[in-house]
This record gives sequence, C-alpha cells and structure tokens, in this order.
Amino acid sequence: MPELPEVETTRRGIEPHILNRRISRVTVRDARLRWPVPPELPLQVQDQRILATHRRSKYLLIELERGMLIVHLGMSGSVRVLLDDPTPGKHDHIDVELDNGVRLRYNDPRRFGAWLYTEAPIDEHELIAHLGPEPLTDTFTADYLFKKSRKRTTRIKTFIMDARIVVGVGNIYANEALFLSGIYPHKPTGRITRKECEQLVSNIKQVLALAISQGGTTLRDFVGGDGKPGYFAQSLNVYGRTGLPCHRCETLVRELRTSNRGTFFCPQCQTR
Ligand code: ZN
Repeated sequence: MPELPEVETTRRGIEPHILNRRISRVTVRDARLRWPVPPELPLQVQDQRILATHRRSKYLLIELERGMLIVHLGMSGSVRVLLDDPTPGKHDHIDVELDNGVRLRYNDPRRFGAWLYTEAPIDEHELIAHLGPEPLTDTFTADYLFKKSRKRTTRIKTFIMDARIVVGVGNIYANEALFLSGIYPHKPTGRITRKECEQLVSNIKQVLALAISQGGTTLRDFVGGDGKPGYFAQSLNVYGRTGLPCHRCETLVRELRTSNRGTFFCPQCQTR
C-alpha cells in the first residue's frame, strides 16, 4: 500500500516531467474510484498550466493556474510518466496528456484511489482540513507531541498513527520508530515522558526520511518503467520479524495486535 514515502517519491519522480507544461487532454477510462472521478474534471483542468506539485499527507497535489488536482493512490494506485502512448492496460484508468507529448498514466487495480479537483483553498478542503502536521516539517516537534499526549489513555502506537495528531506514520514506520525509541507499543500515551517524545519525534522523522531516500532509489526508472511503487526496502528492525532475533540484543521479536494491525517489538529493547 502506498504510504507517505511512496507518494513523496512519486511526486519527486513526476515533477520534472510535468512542471510548467499545459494539460492538453484528460482521458478517464474508468471513473469508479473510491469516489467517482467527477465527470466535469477533464474539461475543468484542460488547457491549464501545471505550476507546482505538493504533497499533503498521502495526497499528491498538482497545482494548476486556477485550482488543484488532488490525487490519492489508495491501496494500489501508481502514476507513471510515459513519453509515448502504449496501449492502456486493464487497470490504466486515467491519462493526463501534456503539451510536450508527455503523458501521466494512472494505474489502480483495486480502485481505492481518488482523482478530484478544487478551486477553493486547499487547506479548507474536507479531505485536508482536519489533518495533523506533516511529520517532516518543523511544525511536528517534541513540544507539540508532548502537549497532545497529556491525559490520553490510548496506546502510544495508535496515537502516533492517528492522522489528526500527525500524518503519514503508517504501520511500518510506527513499529520502527517505537523500536528505535525503546518504547513499548502499548504504553498508555499519557505516560510518555518529555524525553521520550523527543526521541519518538526524531525517530519518526528519521524512518520516514530514510524510506523516502530508498523509495527514490527504487523508482529511479520512473519514466517508462513498470510504474510499481517503491516499497520500503531497508532492513527493518522489527516489522514483520516475529520470532527472529532482535538486531540489537538477539531477543526474539514478538508480535501483538493493535487495533487489528500487526505490532512488532523487542521485549528486551522496548521496556519503557
Ligand atoms: Zn532487542
């Protein structure tokens, strides 16, 4: 499933090919995504120049002259850059043709993604307005997390995966950041110390930044290639390693369930 690093990698991969180009045509072959692609979208964006690309949480934002294209990759979506026009496959639902002949092709086998367009301020959009801060910006600090965590009884792992608290901390990254911080994933949030918040914030930033840098490596052949999203390929410390020895202390990694998600931890290293 594309997480924040894959979306950021996609943004960085497509931006050089689409910046300052004008959209000449949008073709929607199947509008049945998570929300139907609005039938008016192709004509609304046609002839508009692409001014910038942004990312907010897992939304890829393509800034046009009069509004913003909002793209979400859902469970299985990917965008690739084509320099020609190969016959679209079964799951190639949307094409965006640009005035330089480049084409963005959206593939999404499970169709949980989204393509929307708005001319209202993006920060007020219903999908964006209630999101917490971006983890890789200076608005996500230990001070912020500590204040938010007071009097909370929820488990710390659930807390850091809550998009109203901070966006983009998917299951893999939550597990890894808690390991690096030495924190037991089911610790009640309100008992997290100031010092632990500092470590947690620092480690969340570190695992996401590393994943982005590796996603970039995986997606080096962004143009033309098969467009597969670059999954986090680093050697993980705990995620998916149930029963295997901890890289730090060789104690066997254990698994818990947290809100129906797999939680992996080292019982020796994560006792706080
Ligand atoms: Zn350990």
